[in-house]
Amino acid sequence: MNVNQSAPPLPPYGQPQSVYPGYHQSSYGGQSGSMVPPVPYGTSYNGPVPGYQQTPPPGVSRAPPSSGAPPASTAQAPGGQAAYGQFGQGDVQNGPSSTVQMQRHPGSQPFGSAPLVPVVSQPTVLQPYGPPPTSTQVTAQLAGMQISGAAAPAPPPGGLGYGPPTSLASASGSFPNSGLYGSYPQGQAPPLSLAQGHPGAQPPQRFTPPQASSFTPPASGGPRMPSVTGPLLPGQGFGGPSVSQPNHVSSPPPPQALPPGTQMTGPPGPPPPMHSSQPGYQLQQNGSFGPVRGPQPNYGSPYPGAPTFGSQPGPPQPLPPKRLDPDAIPSPIQVIEDDRNNRGSEPFVTGVRGQVPPLVTTNFLVKDQGNASPRYIRCTSYNIPCTSDMAKQAQVPLAAVIKPLARLPPEEASPYVVDHGESGPLRCNRCKAYMCSFMQFIEGGRRFQCCFCSCINDVPPQYFQHLDHTGKRVDAYERPELSLGSYEFLATVDYCKNNKFPSPPAFIFMIDVSYNAIRSGLVRLLCEELKSLLDFLPREGGAEESAIRVGFVTYNKVLHFYNVKSSLAQPQMMVVSDVADMFVPLLDGFLVNVNESRTVITSLLDQIPEMFADTRETETVFAPVIQAGMEALKAAECAGKLFLFHTSLPIAEAPGKLKNRDDRKLINTDKEKTLFQPQTGAYQSLAKQCVAQGCCVDLFLFPNQYVDVATLSVVPQLTGGSVYKYACFQVENDQERFLSDLRRDVQKVVGFDAVMRVRTSTGIRAVDFFGAFFMSNTTDVELAGLDVDKTVTVEFKHDDRLNEESGALLQCALLYTSCAGQRRLRIHNLALNCCTQLADLYRNCETDTLINYMAKFAYRGVLSSPVKTVRDTLITQCAQILACYRKNCASPSSAGQLILPECMKLLPVYLNCVLKSDVLQPGAEVTTDDRAYVRQLVTSMDVAETNVFFYPRLLPLTKSPIENTTEPPAVRASEERLSNGDIYLLENGLNLFLWVGASVQQGVVQSLFSVSSFSHITSGLSVLPVLDNPLSKKVRGLIDSLRAQRSRYMKLIVVKQEDKLETLFKHFLVEDKSLSGGASYVDFLCHMHKEIRQLLS
Ligand SMILES: [Zn+2]
Repeated sequence: MNVNQSAPPLPPYGQPQSVYPGYHQSSYGGQSGSMVPPVPYGTSYNGPVPGYQQTPPPGVSRAPPSSGAPPASTAQAPGGQAAYGQFGQGDVQNGPSSTVQMQRHPGSQPFGSAPLVPVVSQPTVLQPYGPPPTSTQVTAQLAGMQISGAAAPAPPPGGLGYGPPTSLASASGSFPNSGLYGSYPQGQAPPLSLAQGHPGAQPPQRFTPPQASSFTPPASGGPRMPSVTGPLLPGQGFGGPSVSQPNHVSSPPPPQALPPGTQMTGPPGPPPPMHSSQPGYQLQQNGSFGPVRGPQPNYGSPYPGAPTFGSQPGPPQPLPPKRLDPDAIPSPIQVIEDDRNNRGSEPFVTGVRGQVPPLVTTNFLVKDQGNASPRYIRCTSYNIPCTSDMAKQAQVPLAAVIKPLARLPPEEASPYVVDHGESGPLRCNRCKAYMCSFMQFIEGGRRFQCCFCSCINDVPPQYFQHLDHTGKRVDAYERPELSLGSYEFLATVDYCKNNKFPSPPAFIFMIDVSYNAIRSGLVRLLCEELKSLLDFLPREGGAEESAIRVGFVTYNKVLHFYNVKSSLAQPQMMVVSDVADMFVPLLDGFLVNVNESRTVITSLLDQIPEMFADTRETETVFAPVIQAGMEALKAAECAGKLFLFHTSLPIAEAPGKLKNRDDRKLINTDKEKTLFQPQTGAYQSLAKQCVAQGCCVDLFLFPNQYVDVATLSVVPQLTGGSVYKYACFQVENDQERFLSDLRRDVQKVVGFDAVMRVRTSTGIRAVDFFGAFFMSNTTDVELAGLDVDKTVTVEFKHDDRLNEESGALLQCALLYTSCAGQRRLRIHNLALNCCTQLADLYRNCETDTLINYMAKFAYRGVLSSPVKTVRDTLITQCAQILACYRKNCASPSSAGQLILPECMKLLPVYLNCVLKSDVLQPGAEVTTDDRAYVRQLVTSMDVAETNVFFYPRLLPLTKSPIENTTEPPAVRASEERLSNGDIYLLENGLNLFLWVGASVQQGVVQSLFSVSSFSHITSGLSVLPVLDNPLSKKVRGLIDSLRAQRSRYMKLIVVKQEDKLETLFKHFLVEDKSLSGGASYVDFLCHMHKEIRQLLS
């Protein structure tokens, strides 16, 4: 069928709208509609990734895919998964090469309709520093582009072309001025990224062609990369008068006054402002902030030929560093704003193959006209190279980030449910792909040719329909599976475990009642909350009550099971102290319907805190608790979820007993990886049993010290569960965060006992998977549970040549049990373009998705390789990607220019954020548990979550008029964007800070904090007073709205300028050099340029 035809409005399916679990959250606890928590576990723990060490960038010679071969798994799939009808063994992926004429649009445009500039995109000169090397383009901007990255306390010597000193206030105040660079029609030359962020004045400078951003960073003139100076020390930023160039690198100073304007289409703007330091405010500038730092471990000599990048031990070199103007390098803020302006107003219609969707940071609606919504699938590129040679050359990972049960906004319909009755869904006989709109009906409709493997299949009589003159079935628009990208099939009994329809799932709450849990107030708080929370268990569609049954266990060194059968007057406790051989002491009365047993349950929850109030027991067990929950589900013959509330390292004598093995001395050694690995294999085999039972584990941790998150989270991670961590939990400080997370977690829609398979058309195949799941073979992703937040990232490789005309297809099929116990298949289809020109690849990439993939790849890599190796691998791959573009797609220009593909111009800044993240480059304050925790969180994040996590949002609160209630435009995450007369919010999806400048007006302080002056504001405050004035309402409203956008509750921390806590806050100003040695954006860009030049020379 023709994917491109304009499909009619949503067809009037006979099928009722999918009842799939309340996509509308019930409004329990005021959480309505907010997004649900992401999930925190790491990649399926698969032990060492073979071949990682070889530093092959992903995409090339990585060892055989198989995240598949999970630890300790032998051939036999747990729980007889293989028996599921969905995935026949021996599915053939490689059919004859596609000869199907599918009438797809041969080459859709990425955005808009302007034809793309063919093949070679010429550089847009971004940064004309440096010697006049290249052309005059370079010089053109010299006048307009100057240093601002300086931190020198003294103003720079005059005559250097610096702009007039500008206060921080004005610098950040006028930034970003998106109006200036508003909407550029797609396909036209984008404005220079350079210009972004310049305080108002500079008009967009349009250089010829689109699709490339180039700049001439440091060293542009020199034949080779000259060495950079040593550590950038305070005051060094500007060096002496010899700084004739705003470059960071000390290449021979080029003639200064190059004739401006040669290639510019617009006048050069006025020089950008300098950022001068202000009294009492220490500027942090690219490494020149703070005390002299020691050697930077990361930028030592790892880069051959670039020995002096970044800080080096030893005294500073005399050569004054020159800098790129931070305003002149690609700005995430500008890119986000531009996309919002250009693409936020029109719905994204999925009818055309290979369209790049709007960015995740843009609000847009989706109309499904044949391809899955980007809410379900996002790709690193929507146009993939036809051959593996091309793919290897480009080094751009081909990956899809899939969120099969993603929540949709209310305006968008949930997938329709198709019921084919007893015959079940129609599939290709050979590859088992499900019927979809890309299948080609032939012979008058009596047969269809599979779009994945080309096999010709008979159409069963009950499914027969005539074709119209275009070869399309006349009922195509009445059938979701023939006209939409996403839909569901009701599964038949063949798709059920043991050929039996499943029972409704169960939730088991398992509560640590050891001394710490009681003392912190956790147990009392939790029990009180559960009394009401149990009324909000997920339910299907219009169901009056949830079908989910519940059970309760408490534990310390022993386990206590509770009989809460409705006929009992009081709950009964049964103690199991033989934790080595766990069994469930009761079946009847353990898992119950909440409404039927409400009185008994309430009584139990009232009694638990009292029963253990005087406990002296400090030791806990852990593995036996999971074992018990899993056994209980097995006995009840159902899938389900365990909610574990746990406080300490399980040192009591029992299976899964752990010891404290935290050792910070291992950081930056070859043994660092052991910190991320579980200390015993016991949890992996336990997880495997859980997966076989469809037992998903969510873990809430309340540690006062090291608990070995790396080990405790193995089961949650392999079962599709979530981990939450509340260090040093205190009811008064942390209850809001914990309760909010708990409510979201309990209410969230989950698919149980799930298996996901990604099929592809001939030529590519899925080879690697990242996320929270288990794999016992190389193709089936097993998920004991999969909730609305869980994401699976899939990498693809070529196994044959692709065809430009037929493109490439992905089909993700998820078999799962709904909250009501219904067995279903959710299908997502996506068609991609294929290209024979690398330029087409680079024009259709999505950097946010690339970063999602690269971060997950790196975070798995730390399990098997030193973090330095992992970082180097990422840098090398990024350099190769950009060098390939430069070599094959950009028009010839001086080597001194850094030329970036338009779609990837943020790759360096985002990659740098990944490189300096806590997992890959921890600061002194980051604990081993924090790193393990974050590592896992990231592994199941979707693209929007990784985007804001790695590059936090920094919102000025007092810049816009108070009446303006819309979210203020963000500013770049750098200290130089902060004005000490203002207040800012910073969030990254997990953390939320309110930063207060030291010179904020007294009235503002009064309105927001109800105190008379800055000095009276309590540092570290986590709740703003509720005051009846417009500013207070506006700020509190904004905080609420930010929280509602994120899947985990972000606790607020008020940070005063110059206060101790500010160090913590500055950790998130990711464009600056970090205290742990992470490079500033500017420095990293220079370094990246150097790497690229080396590859090209
Ligand atoms: Zn097939």
